[in-house]
Amino acid sequence: MAKAPGRAASAVRLFDAHCHLQDPRISAVAPSLIRAATDSGVARFAVNGTSEKDWHLVKQMGQEHPAVVPCFGLHPWWVPERSPDWMDSLRQFLSETPEAAVGESVMQIGLDKGSHGKTIDFGEQVEVFQRQLELAKELEKPVSVHCVRAFGDLLEILKRTGPFPSGVLLHSYLGSAEMVLGLANLGCYFSLSGFLTGMKSTKAKKMLKAIPLDRILLETDAPDALPKLDNVSLVTVPVDTSDADTEKCDIDSTSPAISSSNESLNHPSNIHIVLSYVASLLEMPEAELAELSYKNASKLFSYPGSKVHL
Ligand SMILES: [Zn+2]
Repeated sequence: MAKAPGRAASAVRLFDAHCHLQDPRISAVAPSLIRAATDSGVARFAVNGTSEKDWHLVKQMGQEHPAVVPCFGLHPWWVPERSPDWMDSLRQFLSETPEAAVGESVMQIGLDKGSHGKTIDFGEQVEVFQRQLELAKELEKPVSVHCVRAFGDLLEILKRTGPFPSGVLLHSYLGSAEMVLGLANLGCYFSLSGFLTGMKSTKAKKMLKAIPLDRILLETDAPDALPKLDNVSLVTVPVDTSDADTEKCDIDSTSPAISSSNESLNHPSNIHIVLSYVASLLEMPEAELAELSYKNASKLFSYPGSKVHL
């Protein structure tokens, strides 16, 4: 495995506001990824479970690694596979996990009309999304939202269901600059990932400059969202072709983006690359953006009902 960038841990501290270190493609090496990223200055990782199949792994990761904030919920891609008891199970994970070493559990939910999500009935996605949003409101927890090509629907649902005093994290935000203010007024935070490098830089710059400074977060979405930039030294995780990959093919076979066995996977240390890219577009010193995004994430994950203060 490639080594993490050789940065002093004290140089900056970063909070990876959304990643999937429990993903079967990398779960076997997750402890070494966490170690390497921690050495490079990443102090916290919000690890998002995506279905009933991986919630126990996220819970376990939270217990084993104090830097991990466990997040549970049903990602839109796995909506059709849910069991009849999924809500009871989700409630149980959310109520048991405050005992995890650091950070209380938050929820991961979403809407997807993109290439993957298109194959999943949107009405069903909305129903599952709304049920989870209601649960998050009831439990006063923040939600981490996956939204692909459905920002109009998202805004409408959030307006109808909001406000959200515990906060809403819009993971890997790629929406327009024009939507930022309306979403921010509802309590949304805007989490930026390596996918931003795929957006035209003038559009990305306009969108970033529209985000209030107290709502900016950084994330890797590892093992996905590897930044696509020239002349940067990315840290990648080689794809394991053994059992873990077999399991991956089983659950991800319909995703063209991650089905190639030759593809490099994203490492949480690459949050430094996201930091540099976003800082350059915002014309802001990297250290300043690192600190403000860390504080924003700490505030969001230490939400009012939480007993934990990061
Ligand atoms: Zn994700």
